[in-house]
Formats: sequence, C-alpha cells, structure tokens
Amino acid sequence: MALLFGPPGVGKGTQADIITQKYSFIKCSTGDMLRDEIAKKTESGAKVEQYLKQGVLVPDDHIFTIIEDFLKKNKNRDLLFDGFPRNYNQATVFGNLLHALDLKLQVAIEMHLSKDTIVMRLAHRRYCTKCGRIYNLKTNPPVHNDICDKCHLPLEQRTDDNEEVIRKRLKVYETETRPLVDYYRSKGIYHQVDAQGTQTEVLERIARIIDDHIAEK
Ligand code: AMP
Repeated sequence: MALLFGPPGVGKGTQADIITQKYSFIKCSTGDMLRDEIAKKTESGAKVEQYLKQGVLVPDDHIFTIIEDFLKKNKNRDLLFDGFPRNYNQATVFGNLLHALDLKLQVAIEMHLSKDTIVMRLAHRRYCTKCGRIYNLKTNPPVHNDICDKCHLPLEQRTDDNEEVIRKRLKVYETETRPLVDYYRSKGIYHQVDAQGTQTEVLERIARIIDDHIAEK
C-alpha cells in the first residue's frame, strides 16, 4: 500500500493513474470522489462544493466516511492513495484504521515542485469530464485543441484552478499537509521525488521506490 502527496498541480493525479495501471493497484483519490459527489447534485455534494470552491479542506469527518467505505470494499487489494491524508489528524486516524484492519502502509511519497512551475501547470490544466483524463495545454496537450483524445468531448478547467483559489490551496498545503513529511519520516516510510521532468521520468522515480519497498506487484 502506497500514498502520494504533494502540492496541487504537482502531477499526483496523472502519476496515480499511470501507477495504478502499471501495478494493478486500486486508486483512492479523495479529490475525485468529492468531485463525483458534487456532480451528483445531492445536498451533501452542494455542501462539499463550497469547500472546494474556496480551496480549503473538506471537514475530516466527511473524508473519514469516504475512506472507511473505500477500505471496507477494497481491503484485500493493493491500494494507492492520492491526495489523502491531507493533514495530521487524517494521517493519525488513517494509521489507526489501518492498524485495526491489519493493513500496512509501506511508502508515503511526496512529489516536489517549485511554486512557479506549479502555478504555470495549474493555469494550463484541463480535464475531460467524461473519462477524467488530465491534460496540460503547454506540456501535455491533446491532439486537437481543447478536445479529449479519447472521448472527443471539449476539455474543461476545474473551477478551483483559478489564480486566487490556487494560491489558497498552496497555502493550505504548506500549513496543513506539509507536516506529513515529518510524520511519515518518523515512521521510516517517507520518500521525496522530484516532480520536474517528463511524465516518464517522474514515473521512473516513483516506480523505483515502489519496486524497492512493495514486494508484491
Ligand atoms: P485534489 O483533487 O486532490 O487537488 O483535491 C481538490 C480539493 O478537494 C481540495 O482542495 C480540497 O478542498 C478537497 N479535498 C481532497 N482531498 C481531501 C482530503 N483528504 N481532505 C480534505 N479535503 C480534501
């Protein structure tokens, strides 16, 4: 079991998709799950939307409900967490939950990138609302302008990918999520990868860690 964390725009979602395919992991992206909830237009989805719009974290209790449900369904699979946990409380509760289920987190990988590159990446990020594939108009564009290569539908920009919200999300990362570096370092499972470079280069760096620390692939 592995988890990927890092600031918004570092390429977590893209790498998580490639890694889950390469290793037949099951991905748990709390961000994707929350966006699915919003798309269903339920009452709870409307509440969740307010947090995402502001670039702040959704309350932990809501996230725990999602995670517990996910773990119950996928307990016996190899799992990759993308964007969870996001703060110290989530990390410790997650640790207790895994312990109770006799599961073990083997690696916590932080993806690192300079702030300028992050802002550039997020401003040019687009995604397909149907298949979820992520593009970057500068570094990883679709074949035809603004159209998904697979679904042939127009690409969209996430509502939280505007400059004001991007800055807020970066701040939230610094204050709430970065402390996980020390937390996972103290557990002896922390690794940092440089997220600069091509998708393949970054993948190779992450894959090396997974190959070295997760026995069953
Ligand atoms: P992401 O797609 O991972 O960048 O997440 C987008 C947004 O969803 C974040 O800015 C938060 O508002 C919310 N979110 C995602 N995962 C979590 C989490 N584990 N805890 C709290 N909020 C989350």
